[in-house]
Amino acid sequence: MEFYGHIIDGVEVESLDGARMDSIDPYTREPWATVALGGRADAARAVAAARKAFDEGPWPRMGYEKRQTLMHRLADLMLENAEALALADTRDMGKPIAQARHDVARSAWNFRFFADHARLTAGENYPMDSGHHAYSRFGPAGVVSAIAPWNFPLMLETWKVAPALAWGNTVVLKPAEDTPVSAVILGRLAIEAGFPPGVLNVVQGYGPDSAGAELTENVDVDRITFTGESGTGRIIGGVAAKRLCPVSLELGGKGANIVFADADLDNAVDWSVQAIFRNAGQVCLAGSRLYVQREVYDEFLERFVAAAEAMQIGDPQDDATQFGPLASEEHWTKVSGYLGGIEADGGKVLTGGHGEGWFVRPTIVVDAPADARVCTEEIFGPVVVVHPFDTEAEAVRLANDTRYGLNAMLFTENLSRAHRVSEALKAGTVWVNCFFIRDLRAPFGGVGDSGVGREGGAFSREFFTEPKAVVMQI
Ligand code: NAD
Repeated sequence: MEFYGHIIDGVEVESLDGARMDSIDPYTREPWATVALGGRADAARAVAAARKAFDEGPWPRMGYEKRQTLMHRLADLMLENAEALALADTRDMGKPIAQARHDVARSAWNFRFFADHARLTAGENYPMDSGHHAYSRFGPAGVVSAIAPWNFPLMLETWKVAPALAWGNTVVLKPAEDTPVSAVILGRLAIEAGFPPGVLNVVQGYGPDSAGAELTENVDVDRITFTGESGTGRIIGGVAAKRLCPVSLELGGKGANIVFADADLDNAVDWSVQAIFRNAGQVCLAGSRLYVQREVYDEFLERFVAAAEAMQIGDPQDDATQFGPLASEEHWTKVSGYLGGIEADGGKVLTGGHGEGWFVRPTIVVDAPADARVCTEEIFGPVVVVHPFDTEAEAVRLANDTRYGLNAMLFTENLSRAHRVSEALKAGTVWVNCFFIRDLRAPFGGVGDSGVGREGGAFSREFFTEPKAVVMQI
């Protein structure tokens, strides 16, 4: 099995104590790679390297254009190595290879977009009526800790790393313990692209009282960007608050998906299947609560069940596979716990349930009472609850009846309704007649338990820089 180390100060290294862990392929349920297992000391070493690179190295000082060139070179190398990167995520967490390839393309684009965006938006001028001249500069914040989850490993890591680097920061990235490999390949490619040592460090390991905790507590860290569970976000937010370190928290979700009777039903069925069954439902943005207007409820449900049952389930390395296993045994156990409670809570499973190994098949639930766990908690698996509704006001009320607020989808051919309902929904992103489409200039983040802050375009600039005003008398 190939070994993947930490990337610290431009070199791939073992843990200080030599500890290693296996990465398990959830389809074969066998180890497929061996990885350095870091702890606090390894994370502290990575932070020290990032600190030195920030305080003394060329990266924050080389200017936007040179950073832009290096980041485009990294994006080129990612595309040249797309198959290895995609395979790493597929083997680490069971993502179908076609979806993993899509994620790699988006990951390379993250570097291109933020490199260009930073160069084009480096400052603003404010000529004043008094004759004074004011301008702003967006200087780098310093050392950034980027802590990532396992569901879109490379894509979410680059979503943090790319803007942080583009604005001149140095970074320590910690991938989730279940999905360590693509981050190491990224780190190797950054070295190959010519990034100075210490600019992009990758440290492996667990969170609580380990590598992850060190990345939040270390006083040399100037920004923490975290994506993961709401409970973890609360812990990290508390640690950051104590030492007044700005933190961006992208957390869990329980997305509502509303299908109005005037929707294009073919389109609504296609996207609704994507919204809950893409990546086996292990998507923070999953449309796991589906509300369908009563006039089309039966017809929609019949087509939705048929589409779910037609999904190609199987070996994630097979090009044709649309639906793979859950990412780990631990996660399979968690999702199984929800499946076990559905009927006792009054719900009915129309299709789905357990498959072989760590598979849970696309699962559609009806008749579950609104306060059942399956309706209120983030399952983070391929389980959707479907409810009928009668009026637009009722749909909005049901959709907003959650402590989360990451995103919502709505399907309608009525333009006024599309705008009206988008406005009324409590969510950081609303998709109308689609799902999962992103423009990197747009804000991304959540309301309530779904997070604090926004990233994307100028929103990432706000977070990853220390803006400064300069006022001159002329
Ligand atoms: P998690 O919170 O268990 O772990 C996320 C990361 O945090 C991992 O790298 C982990 O090692 C680290 N970590 C855990 N405890 C820590 C601590 N005390 N200090 C520092 N680091 C710590 O989440 P997960 O299970 O990997 O991911 C699934 C969750 O992520 C779901 O809730 C999902 O909705 C959410 N998510 C949100 C978004 C978004 O953009 N809002 C995107 C993807 C996933």
